[in-house]
Amino acid sequence: MLGKLNMDEFAMGSSNETSYYGPVINPWKAEGSNLERVPGGSSGGSAAAVAAHLCAGATATDTGGSIRQPAAFTGTVGIKPTYGRCSRWGVVAFASSLDQAGPLARDVRDAAILLKSMASVDDKDTTSVDLPVPDYEAAIGQSVKGMKIGIPKEYRVEGMPEDIEKLWQQGIAWLKDSGAEIVDISLPHTKYALPAYYIVAPAEASSNLARYDGVKYGLRVPGKDIADMYEKTRAEGFGHEVQRRIMIGTYVLSAGYYDAYYLKAQKVRTLIKRDFENVFAQGIDTILTPATPSAAFGIADQELANDPVKMYLNDIFTVTVNMAGLPGISVPAGLDANGLPLGLQLIGKPFDEETLFRTASVIERAAGRFTPEKWW
Ligand code: GLN
Repeated sequence: MLGKLNMDEFAMGSSNETSYYGPVINPWKAEGSNLERVPGGSSGGSAAAVAAHLCAGATATDTGGSIRQPAAFTGTVGIKPTYGRCSRWGVVAFASSLDQAGPLARDVRDAAILLKSMASVDDKDTTSVDLPVPDYEAAIGQSVKGMKIGIPKEYRVEGMPEDIEKLWQQGIAWLKDSGAEIVDISLPHTKYALPAYYIVAPAEASSNLARYDGVKYGLRVPGKDIADMYEKTRAEGFGHEVQRRIMIGTYVLSAGYYDAYYLKAQKVRTLIKRDFENVFAQGIDTILTPATPSAAFGIADQELANDPVKMYLNDIFTVTVNMAGLPGISVPAGLDANGLPLGLQLIGKPFDEETLFRTASVIERAAGRFTPEKWW
């Protein structure tokens, strides 16, 4: 253990800018520009440290994309394992039905080695699953010949930059050249995933963070009476984004709105899960999508700062995977026109991380490795 790394407060964010300690700076800069960029979030500190070669690998968590999006923004490899593959013991709970821990590393092999040592059943996390841990490293270098790779049409979203579409097509071409069969698929409920996530995740967060009451747990800011103490404690102890999530979560769980929001989002979640089950039942081995809808953006981007919903759109390709409890990996696949790294995502069947490592290593071999120029 070398040290702890920065992150968005309570793992809520896509840019590291909600961090109590201030934002991490991405080691990557666009060509000919000095603009400081975000490393993504919430595990931005982990991704930046790995990209800058401060460490060989780092642990991270992913509730809606917090391993995969920072990996894509920093040219590193990040895998969110299947829900239950790793213990979350010691991790502050955000949304317990979505949270999963996993590694960030400089290449696919390192990620496989790290996951092998992280994956296990654990008495201290009852959601962890007692299944043998395969030798993930052995999957690297295996052929993808004859494998069926699904390309979901719903991931071609409006306003997606041309660079992202090009990268996706490149990834498809590499896998085809390696003997995989490319199959067009449909995941019809994809468009509801982001709104449903932003109901389910805040609902669980509001419940999980209720323990930070200043009485039995966490910070306490004294007040003139108990109500005043609660108010001061929770106003001071949580940043704006966390407060927003608690308020959304409390609202969607309240008696009058529970059925309309929370229950409906849970039903949508089941439909999203079923979409994936259907395509896997049709013989699809893994699904290829872009990891993020853009490259790393600038710190304090005004458009994003003033519109939290725009920030939430960063998770558009990653939240479906958490909603369905599936494994997903982000692998660097190229640079955009400005020289910033971009990632492709592979989504797998439950507990089939091996197929993700195998396929990601084919993409890695074709794309090469990406390291930022040292300016720090
Ligand atoms: N960016 C997403 C959010 O803010 C995901 C966070 C995460 O995976 N921890 O909720």
